[in-house]
Amino acid sequence: MTALSVRGVRVVDPFAGTDAVADVYVDEGGRFAQPPAAPDTAGEIVDGRGLWLVPRVADLHVHFREPGQEHKEDIGSGSRAAAAGGVSVVGLMPNTSPVIDSGAAMNRVLGRVAQVGLVAAWGIGAVSVGSQGARPADWDTMRGAGARALSDDGHPVASSRLMAAALAFSAQHGTPIIQHLEDPELAHGGMAHEGAVAARLGLAGMPAAAESVMAWRDVGLLRAYGGRLHFAHCSVPDTLAALAWARAQGAHATGEASPHHLLLTDDALAEWHPTGMAKVNPPLRPAGMRDALRQAVERGVVTVVASDHAPHAAGEKGGPFAAAPFGISGIETLLGVLLTVFHHERRLTPLALMGLVTAGPHDVVGEPYAGVVPGSPADFTLIDPDVSWRVDPAAFQSRGANTPLAGHVLYGRAVATVRGGRFTFREGQVVS
Ligand SMILES: [Zn+2]
Repeated sequence: MTALSVRGVRVVDPFAGTDAVADVYVDEGGRFAQPPAAPDTAGEIVDGRGLWLVPRVADLHVHFREPGQEHKEDIGSGSRAAAAGGVSVVGLMPNTSPVIDSGAAMNRVLGRVAQVGLVAAWGIGAVSVGSQGARPADWDTMRGAGARALSDDGHPVASSRLMAAALAFSAQHGTPIIQHLEDPELAHGGMAHEGAVAARLGLAGMPAAAESVMAWRDVGLLRAYGGRLHFAHCSVPDTLAALAWARAQGAHATGEASPHHLLLTDDALAEWHPTGMAKVNPPLRPAGMRDALRQAVERGVVTVVASDHAPHAAGEKGGPFAAAPFGISGIETLLGVLLTVFHHERRLTPLALMGLVTAGPHDVVGEPYAGVVPGSPADFTLIDPDVSWRVDPAAFQSRGANTPLAGHVLYGRAVATVRGGRFTFREGQVVS
């Protein structure tokens, strides 16, 4: 029996590589289904005209802050924010308090996400104990508990010896290593891109090379030790060059861009001065670097866009710049920014653009998914691709209202999210 059908919708399916208007049917088991043989009025009918239906939107890089910093976000509020942002699966970064660096901790956090039930999660375990960068964490046990990747995100894996060992483990087991690119000595104390804007505002600069020299070291290690390497939030041209070089060698390297690095420049620091609302790590860059990042996405060097959703509590970002923590609450603006940058100005086709948040992240973690075909789990997002809306952090489901996009107009957004055939978000409301 048909439980749900979406009629006349533009199905943009990067998993199948298809883009066509169709009617989509979901059965009572929550899976995509063939059209019914006989007229079937049992299910709910949704008018999909003018909308895109995009299967299994994934945000590879989020911080839900549980355990330990629930005043910023918890798995409940983070899951609601994901649903409202049109996201079906999240990659959960392990830099909670304590850090997710054991199988038991991985089990707890994944169990909690499943209990909330609004979004699926790819668990990401720490590379080093406590993400301190010294001793390797218990990779085997975390993998057994469901970890889909390893990362010390928030910090780099600065030790070459530790990165070599992690890549060797990756080569053996296929688990990707996600690197936060930062040379601690070059970055030391920096809070903004080292350039004209930081100099004018008197902010401690972080040179672009702090990111890119680590990228070049890592692609060298990747060539030597094998494995799968993914660069989080790439932001400078020489990082993109390292990534392109490694990919051209046939090494398994992938890269991600965050929406704020694609949309904004370091002028946002001046706009929000003296607060730290636009303070993020890696820092927002000048227009030339922002444009190079867009081109790397358009050329297929960068294959993932992920929010780096980093919520903070009210007040934490509003004080003086130096005291503010790094990060932007971004999961509810992920699709809006992506559509604004690449669809509103027609820089990418819908299929290529949606691949950045569907097939791209699935490829990084090696998760198979067939897309909109009968028998496949009916996880999808309905998107109004051109609607204009103003970002109002007070309306966020996330506990974090910290975004330099507050008041900005974006074009395109999720209007409904369906997980396993069931709405988790519709008509502006999370359905739990
Ligand atoms: Zn990071």
